[in-house]
Amino acid sequence: MADSGIENVDNLNAENSLRRAPSAGEAQKLWSECLHVIKKRVNERTYSTWFLPIRPVSLSGKVLILEFPNLFFHEWVDTHYGEVITDTVRGIIGGEARVEYSVSENQPVFEDELPPVVIKKPQIPPPAPRKQPEFTTNLNPKYLFENFIKGEHNQLARAAAQAISNNPGKTSFNPFFVYGGVGLGKTHLIQAIGNAVHNNAPDKRVIYVTSDKFTTDFVDAILGEKTNEFSNFYRTMDILILDDIQFLTGKEKTQDLFFHVFNALHQMNKQIVLSSDRAPKDLKGMDDRLISRFNWGLTADIQAPDLETRIAILMRKAEEMQLDISAETLEHIATHITSNIRELEGCLVKLLANAMLSSSTITADLVRRTVREISTTKKTNLSIDLITRYVCEYLNIDEKKIRDKTRKQEIVNARQIAMYLSKELTRSDLKTIGLHFGGRDHSTVIHSINTVKEDMTKDVMLADTVQSIRQKIETAAF
Ligand code: ADP
Ligand code: MG
Repeated sequence: MADSGIENVDNLNAENSLRRAPSAGEAQKLWSECLHVIKKRVNERTYSTWFLPIRPVSLSGKVLILEFPNLFFHEWVDTHYGEVITDTVRGIIGGEARVEYSVSENQPVFEDELPPVVIKKPQIPPPAPRKQPEFTTNLNPKYLFENFIKGEHNQLARAAAQAISNNPGKTSFNPFFVYGGVGLGKTHLIQAIGNAVHNNAPDKRVIYVTSDKFTTDFVDAILGEKTNEFSNFYRTMDILILDDIQFLTGKEKTQDLFFHVFNALHQMNKQIVLSSDRAPKDLKGMDDRLISRFNWGLTADIQAPDLETRIAILMRKAEEMQLDISAETLEHIATHITSNIRELEGCLVKLLANAMLSSSTITADLVRRTVREISTTKKTNLSIDLITRYVCEYLNIDEKKIRDKTRKQEIVNARQIAMYLSKELTRSDLKTIGLHFGGRDHSTVIHSINTVKEDMTKDVMLADTVQSIRQKIETAAF
């Protein structure tokens, strides 16, 4: 909490007197300005769910007091948006500003109806004692093996990760290369390795870094003429965990540096853990020397979880969120939200927020509406043009040609895939889709969609391609 600058205020039960404070008007004015700024920094759903219900209570000197509807709400906002709030307030009234909070006494009462949802008092476990290294590991302590649910979809990756964490650098899984679509648990799993080692052997030097940050830091190092220091720093690690390595594609200099770091670490039997949204062979724009090294150890993919696993994950998340929720409700969510785990989590949060902010009772109807809302927002965020662009980019085809009359097989294939994905991922009707592809009529569109559907059942490569494109689009759009 100290990090975010939001601190506890004692004796805030004197809520009513605070409300009458003469500074209430100023607080209101400041908070309105803050909302104006925050609205541009977060997405609309986040803004209306988490920011609009916050009430400014008073402003005394540079201390702004905000009131949250309840404890859970406060904790969620503090953890996820504490810094945003503090930064914004400081941006407006200066660096010494502080934000404090109070929690409204009108906690919503959840009725014991079907499906029941009850908020229990959150219990925050004390952080495990850790030895502080002289650099930051960048690990998020919440990503652990203990809360990583096993399923068929992640069996190999998980088992290997655990073996590595028991014996980093000493197994034949070096490097360990995990790949799979967005929101399926790659970051969670590779950080779990880091956390396990860090907690069991605090002397080991563990570092987690996203490929984006690795690249930016490297560019900074070049500018500051500190490339040797940069490289040497990474060479001192016992475990290097590099996330989303697909972002290194096309970045030759960074790849070159990473190549040398990789060799040095591997030679010393230090563990290298990598994640990517696709298999090594599909990393176009990645140095072949690196790709061949990625295959030296173990490559494991994580797939989309099946229904049972999705239910198990929801159960665990509901428990973590201190939320009692009926099995039928969880099953309903798991049946309708299928593509990734991040979305499953998002649904529970939204459900909880809706319950708190509206009627305070979760009915089967609210669950249905929330699930529908999530699927709809997803669909309206996407355009046929965006889909077409991604399909063409992936298949290396000129975007203009896809709208032409050409019958060249590779263009026809791309066009059919783009039509199929437009149907799957947007709410456009067949006529609209046809119009986007050079004015084709709706029977051509139906034929295209059916062809792709059928071919995918027979052709694994095609199914894989379509799935990869879909994942890229979904990552880009949300
Ligand atoms: P990715 O890196 O593959 O995009 P993340 O690791 O960020 O996905 O996972 C998205 C969210 O889903 C995280 O909050 C993570 O904790 C959760 N998650 C993913 N897989 C699991 C799992 N098997 N068990 C529990 N939570 C999971
Ligand atoms: Mg990730």
